[in-house]
Amino acid sequence: MQTIPSEYLEIDRKARVYMPYHDLSLRTPQERVCDFGDVVIPLDSDRAMLEASRCIHCPDPAPCMLACPCHNDIPSAMWLIEQGRYVEAANLYRETSSLPEICSRVCPHEQLCQGSCVLNKTHEPVLCGPLETFVTCYQRKTDGVEIQVGKPSGKKVALVGAGPASMGCAERLIQQGHAVTFFDSKPAPGGLAVYGIPNFKLSKEVFFCRWGDYEKAGAKFIGNTRIGKDKTVDSLFKEGFGAVFIGVGVGIDAKMETPGEDLPGVYEATDFLMRANTDINLLPENMRERPKIGKRLVVIGGGDTASDCLRSAIRMGAEEVTCLYRRTEKEMPGGRKDRQMAKDEGAKYRFLTQPIRFIAGEDGRLAAIECIEMKLGEPDAKGRRKPVPVEGSNFSIAVDTAIKALGYWPDPVIGESTPGLETHDWGLVSVTDRETGATTREGVFSAGDCVSGPDLVVTAMVGGRKAALAIDEYLRKK
Ligand SMILES: Cc1cc2nc3c(=O)[nH]c(=O)nc-3n(C[C@H](O)[C@H](O)[C@H](O)COP(=O)(O)OP(=O)(O)OC[C@H]3O[C@@H](n4cnc5c(N)ncnc54)[C@H](O)[C@@H]3O)c2cc1C
Repeated sequence: MQTIPSEYLEIDRKARVYMPYHDLSLRTPQERVCDFGDVVIPLDSDRAMLEASRCIHCPDPAPCMLACPCHNDIPSAMWLIEQGRYVEAANLYRETSSLPEICSRVCPHEQLCQGSCVLNKTHEPVLCGPLETFVTCYQRKTDGVEIQVGKPSGKKVALVGAGPASMGCAERLIQQGHAVTFFDSKPAPGGLAVYGIPNFKLSKEVFFCRWGDYEKAGAKFIGNTRIGKDKTVDSLFKEGFGAVFIGVGVGIDAKMETPGEDLPGVYEATDFLMRANTDINLLPENMRERPKIGKRLVVIGGGDTASDCLRSAIRMGAEEVTCLYRRTEKEMPGGRKDRQMAKDEGAKYRFLTQPIRFIAGEDGRLAAIECIEMKLGEPDAKGRRKPVPVEGSNFSIAVDTAIKALGYWPDPVIGESTPGLETHDWGLVSVTDRETGATTREGVFSAGDCVSGPDLVVTAMVGGRKAALAIDEYLRKK
């Protein structure tokens, strides 16, 4: 529900529709490929007020609120921003979102809030995402940000994984007075927000500022601890945790099952992006080396991860960067915005192409890839036309580096080591109720990518927040 009563709004909708629109400013492709810094030039106060006043304040429930997985009260935030009440606007976002400074930067807004803005019909949508970034940044600089700690309940909760799902869950648990401890197999917290999403989309500084709020509120972090191996869910209960939240994401790269895929020079996307984008000191000890890339590099796959790999490789100095995808551009699962940025930065695309063999050179490293041309056949069960090889169309391309960006699966170790916890499809955690994240094991709750499969920061965080309410209820009844 919108929090600003409509009688306060003196809105001339027609006038607002015709207010001038200025597109978001981006650094030029030539400039931005020289570093891993932000691509977007942040809004300033004047721009923010002007942009927010383009909102025509649709009647409740506004389409942008419905489309936002957090159901942020965007129209009321716009009303506050246009009056320069930035801290109040930031606090409004914080009521429904645990990570507004992060979601405002990485959400695919064109598919969510901005995509549903009614102004799309005739004009340009209000830039809800960059406005959220502006106010949360302003708040941190002027007022600071604090997580309100609830009256101590005497209960403690273990969060397995320290990604967006667990952070969403933890914020609400802290507000309800429960003590939280994150356990993560990585040395630092953040999940894919730190060890996946490249710096040019989300700087580590933004993440760690938010993480600092959790630490100040008493959250503990225990890194380099893989639950299922170093400790188990059972041992966490024995240590006195009243409930366990599982937010382990999907960190295992899908295999290609193609000859030569283990050659030096062939990388998995997760490994490549982690080592390309993360401070060496934050990497696990056996990974503290940048990927060795050559001049000619291909990325195999068509999702957002493929775009991130292409753009990271360009910034690392690869001269010829090409995406190989087995269907056409129309079937590509990745967002159009990221793909356009990759194209602007120099990435090439080769569609209807399937690698079938990685070929080593005399030095034993990758030197070429044998591919086959594809054509689109009959639709599969999901309605997507299946790629079919064109017989006799084999050809080779000379490359020195290949990155496989084909999809992800969860680490099966949690399911294998936790009696009573049901999993499905190679380790995704089964929940008995998506709203509460309750699993088949009493006291164990779960949300995020390890339940839904690969999705978004915002959906993982919202899943964690919902589970926190159920955990609170469970602990209080116990
Ligand atoms: C390259 C890439 C780019 C992306 N870009 C975007 C984007 O622009 N916008 C967007 O919204 N989403 C993006 N996503 C998706 C988004 O990052 C994920 O949906 C989100 O991070 C999922 O959150 P999570 O908490 O469920 O899992 P994760 O973020 O994966 O966190 C899980 C954590 O659990 C830990 N863990 C795993 N197993 C264990 C274990 N057994 N014991 C202890 N710890 C364990 C992992 O180390 C990890 O830290 C991207 C994903 C990738 C791979």
